[in-house]
Amino acid sequence: MRDSSLGGQVGVCPDEAPRSPVWGPLRMPPVTCGGLSLALELPALIRQLRAAWRARRGGHLGPERSQASTWVEAEKEEEVEEVKHDIEDRSAHLEADGRLNTGHAGVLLVERRGSYPLIDLRILKSNSLVTLLCHLFNVYGLIHHFQLDMVKLHRFLGMVQEDYHSQNPYHNAVHAADVTQAMYCYLKEPKLAEQLSPLDVFLGLMAAAAHDVDHPGVNQPFLIKTRHHLASLYQNTSVLESHHWRSTVGMLRESGLLSHLPADMSQDIEQQLGSLILATDISRQNEFLLTFREHLDNQDLDLQLASHRHFILQIALKCADVCNPCRVWELSRQWSERVCEEFYRQGDLERKFDLEISPLCNQQADSVPAIQTGFISYIVEPLFEEWHRFTEPSLLSRTMMGHLHKNKARWSRLRYAHTPPDTQTHPSAEEPQPEGARARTRMRDLDSDPHCSFGYQCHVEPQSGSGPAL
Ligand SMILES: [Zn+2]
Repeated sequence: MRDSSLGGQVGVCPDEAPRSPVWGPLRMPPVTCGGLSLALELPALIRQLRAAWRARRGGHLGPERSQASTWVEAEKEEEVEEVKHDIEDRSAHLEADGRLNTGHAGVLLVERRGSYPLIDLRILKSNSLVTLLCHLFNVYGLIHHFQLDMVKLHRFLGMVQEDYHSQNPYHNAVHAADVTQAMYCYLKEPKLAEQLSPLDVFLGLMAAAAHDVDHPGVNQPFLIKTRHHLASLYQNTSVLESHHWRSTVGMLRESGLLSHLPADMSQDIEQQLGSLILATDISRQNEFLLTFREHLDNQDLDLQLASHRHFILQIALKCADVCNPCRVWELSRQWSERVCEEFYRQGDLERKFDLEISPLCNQQADSVPAIQTGFISYIVEPLFEEWHRFTEPSLLSRTMMGHLHKNKARWSRLRYAHTPPDTQTHPSAEEPQPEGARARTRMRDLDSDPHCSFGYQCHVEPQSGSGPAL
């Protein structure tokens, strides 16, 4: 990882406070969380965090805690106790805010920060996003480099995780953790890893973790046609992505995670997070793809330039967001079924309220294999073909393309296995074509393909596309 923007090597603890040529010297690391050592391995870090939280609560685990006969029992008791404390803490906090209600079956229901009214506090036991981010921040030395307060970091990540809707089949905190894991893998690509600054890595991981926060489980057209307040607020443009970004900024400020940094630095981080999260708007796919392809054709990407690295981070996040078909079949299939279930739920809502059923949301007409073959052909494959080129290609990239082609073929077989022979029309993408020509053909074909329902800007031709400024 390069070290151009903030000084200090990532992964080691320099003796001096890191200096920034742009923002000047940063303050010395604050002593927080009972003097936590920031170079700890993850299990030790988590144990110390737990101890610090307990100390702050002024509590202890009670007499029965010490009677645990095995380590496993002790861990279980600790976990149960921790969840109990967590719920009590949050309940007390929410009661103080006047936001707590008790729902049916004794489930605690809380008004959410943004788009959806309820949250089931039982989801808090699922901690994958917080654990993963704490681990990756530690691995990369970001906690030390940015002198982050561990308690504030934990609070921020907890808020992000909590604001994902566990009742969404797809857009939930596990999807966020999945995208973050993929983003981490892409940041490790040999072509990229040596060029990235600590700020790049910080932004990439943060954007991946928060890119769908508070997703309501319905798409932008649904919000527009139901006149949702978010659609009005963001003037029907990148409504969800804008909400994910602004919610993230709100949580950053609420947690005070960046409050020790100079104002212009924290503002810059907020803006760059916005640029990354807004890039995940699938309706801007063509814009990014054409620019990416142009750079690769011209071989003019210069990763010494911060603006070019930022563009590659945008592409990497877009890849991470749609990489499910690049994973092994069993994982890929589950994600595919989950996203379709979310579409179908939207369709059910539309049917219930006499609204026109959105494309891909009609369970009777839109099968999972049909949706997935379209999604792979129009969105995933064109993007990953260019990513494959960018990585020159790497072992990971080759593996992903292998999974992608196998999964696509499998969905295609499943799709046509249940289609009457006289109505079968195989898309041109299925036919063998020279490598590199397939994606271009697909993009032209989008104009006339009735199955292109992914919010793709089908009418933009490569020559007329205006890509993001670098
Ligand atoms: Zn996503």
